Amino acid sequence: STNDSKESETTGDKLIGGLLTADFDEGSCLSRYKKTSFYRKASPYKPSEYLVSKLRNYEILHKRCGPGTEAYKEATEHFVHDEYYGSNGECRYIVWIASDGLGNRILTLTSVFLYALLTERIILVDQSKDISDLFCEPFPGTSWFLPLDSPIAKQIYGYNKEYSRCYGTMVNNQAINSTSIPPHLYLHILHDSRDEDKMFFCRKDQSLIDKVPWLIVRSNAYFVPTLWLNPTFQPELIKIFPQKDTVFHHLARYLLHPTNQVWGMVTRYYNAQLSRADERLGIQVRVFGKPAGYLQHVMDQVVGCTQREKLLPELATQEESKVNISKSPKLKAVLVTSLYPEYSDKLKNMFWERPSLTGEIVEVFQPSGERIQQTNKKLHDQKALAEIYLLSLTDNIVTSARSTFGYVAYSLGGLKPWLLYQPTGLVTPDPQCVRSPSMEPCFHTPLSHGCEADWGKDSGKILPFLRHCDDMIYGGLKLY
Ligand code: GDP
Repeated sequence: STNDSKESETTGDKLIGGLLTADFDEGSCLSRYKKTSFYRKASPYKPSEYLVSKLRNYEILHKRCGPGTEAYKEATEHFVHDEYYGSNGECRYIVWIASDGLGNRILTLTSVFLYALLTERIILVDQSKDISDLFCEPFPGTSWFLPLDSPIAKQIYGYNKEYSRCYGTMVNNQAINSTSIPPHLYLHILHDSRDEDKMFFCRKDQSLIDKVPWLIVRSNAYFVPTLWLNPTFQPELIKIFPQKDTVFHHLARYLLHPTNQVWGMVTRYYNAQLSRADERLGIQVRVFGKPAGYLQHVMDQVVGCTQREKLLPELATQEESKVNISKSPKLKAVLVTSLYPEYSDKLKNMFWERPSLTGEIVEVFQPSGERIQQTNKKLHDQKALAEIYLLSLTDNIVTSARSTFGYVAYSLGGLKPWLLYQPTGLVTPDPQCVRSPSMEPCFHTPLSHGCEADWGKDSGKILPFLRHCDDMIYGGLKLY
């Protein structure tokens, strides 16, 4: 519409500071170039020129090695015949396999892409799940989907800890060394990974893994923070991301563009419910464990945290509210996302039944309340993605500790979140929430001792900007 083009003219930055290539047709994926004009405020975080040049070089490499090319055919032949053909100038690949919920998937996809960027590999994406209903192609003139007729796609469920080419298993069995490099390896980076699996990125392990033409990864973790522990990667990473807590923010905005179907859901909801407000607050309520559902102590925590942090006004009596009568009261829209509709229902009633002390008008919205996680059901996943994007469009955001869904939303939006601590038992935690100084996601299950064999070492104390996560009682690693 004319309105849109006017807006992008004034923001003048549909390529987000050169982060995006101009080589795509706009209509095929409206979110790619329209996104910046949609975000009311342009991101204050600019990608480094070095990141931009890395991305342009990556696009060239992907086009040269991607599906359909001679190089890809040859590499696939070698895979089928299980023969090692050296690594000189050949194309090397890393195949991402989907695991767990949408937030987890987005985090690992981004981690694998950064690893590919660092090691000059081509990322290929397993499309057995509904990923193509969620995201557009990110690289021009080629495809990032692992072709369905690939021998890897055909045995996608066979990649697990017991698989003979699982890296950690091979290390444990002393079945791998630099004199016998396998043509492919499987990396298992899940919650049940052993240290041997998790150490794949360390310098010693990389000297061998780097030579392997095909890597296949199944992961549910944001393993980005640990890449800084490899002294070979570290100087490069510092150059690419001079501002350390912007890694996911930039990479996700480069890589992930919702399909027109999902973007339609985002823009319709935004225009119908959120666009007119003076200010938007996002609240994501994720309930882990049992019992799940509506829990009074969680509701109390949401209200307590948002009021104490002055994100939502206190309630007033009818008498008090007379002082604050204004002809044009400030309108605050609150976007709640949760599997359970009760949280927004209660909040909505609170602000309907009584006036706010500040005189602000508070409207509360919740797009869906699916009750049960239904990963791999197309419309369910599309709604989840639309909600993640809607949350990212708010001005302030409150998310639930440990939730990757929340991590993606705040990081994408360039927002430093208020994190609601995870309750233990049926009581509201004290303190209820904390403002994080970093907009990076947390890696929940890193190596406890870094790349050193020294078990006494604390991985959160090796580098000043790599510390334990603020939303976990102990452990985790996050860039600050
Ligand atoms: P995490 O489990 O909180 O780390 O987040 P994930 O995204 O990995 O997995 C949770 C899944 O449950 C999501 O992908 C959705 O399928 C569903 N889900 C959880 N919370 C919400 C929500 O607020 N809105 C919607 N639409 N779906 C949700």
